[in-house]
Amino acid sequence: MTQPILQVRNLTTRFRTDRGVVTAVDRVSFDVAPGETLAIVGESGSGKSVTALSILGLIPRPAGSIDEGEILFDGKDLLKLDAPGMRAIRGNRIAMIFQEPMSSLNPALTIGKQIAEPIRLHRGLPWKTALGMATELLGQVQIPEPASRLGAYPHQFSGGMRQRAMIAMALACRPQLIIADEPTTALDVTVQAQILDLLQDLARRTGTALILITHDLGVVARYADRVAVMYGGRLVEMASAEALYRAPRHPYTRGLMACVPRLDGDTSQPLVPIEGQPPDLTALGPGCAFRPRCPLAQARCATVRPALQDAAGPKGDSRHLNACHLQEIA
Ligand code: SF4
Repeated sequence: MTQPILQVRNLTTRFRTDRGVVTAVDRVSFDVAPGETLAIVGESGSGKSVTALSILGLIPRPAGSIDEGEILFDGKDLLKLDAPGMRAIRGNRIAMIFQEPMSSLNPALTIGKQIAEPIRLHRGLPWKTALGMATELLGQVQIPEPASRLGAYPHQFSGGMRQRAMIAMALACRPQLIIADEPTTALDVTVQAQILDLLQDLARRTGTALILITHDLGVVARYADRVAVMYGGRLVEMASAEALYRAPRHPYTRGLMACVPRLDGDTSQPLVPIEGQPPDLTALGPGCAFRPRCPLAQARCATVRPALQDAAGPKGDSRHLNACHLQEIA
């Protein structure tokens, strides 16, 4: 099996708020292999974006802290790096793409400068070479007449073009891992599909691992190799996309699937929203975080936190993990 480029182990990230301590990510573990697309899905507040920020070393301190775990990137624990060490990796070997490119692009700098600068800095190449590579990257992300666009400012690009420019920036230093957090949510459906197709195609061709954070199960079905489902800061199910869609096991995943229109266009089944509210992360009890909303909850669900395990038990092949006491009926 290919050695994972990223191994997250028992990651626990907390924030101190006026209302108490929020455990936003609670003992989360997963791997990502080179060339693989892992989707992390869940409602807002499920911990998926905080997981990304933890990997990127962008948890705001002192309110937030990573209290436990390891984030092994290419075998090295990112949590043991100092700030300059992390800066050398972020934007270079690990790139990120956020939902709103205007918050990541500098409005006062040309697109060409913003793509070429990290190439010059991280790869130590002369400015002229870096600008040549920026032109090439804009061409790869299908921006027409790329050479003439180098001098444009972000506000002169459309939303879709800005997101393409962000992808070009992300690819500039040939990262081994790209983390894309809701990268196309603000765009219309056609542009969304074009950009995700492009991102995945470029990632596959270069063997780059991709973590796609989304609440959109349509995006997951189309692009993910594997899926990690988060609820209340915890990982509740993880499987190949194919297995998850064919036979979701966790009651929350089943609820999510029932909430979205069928991907095959079949409208004969009614949509069933999940009743109740996402959990208050300052007041999670000792048991299962999904218990107040779970139609299958039992007495032990209130007191014992279900372990993430394969339905076949500890000796199973660990390919379809589920954190529910009702493994046998799930
Ligand atoms: Fe529902 Fe209990 Fe399973 Fe949690 S552990 S999902 S409450 S059945």
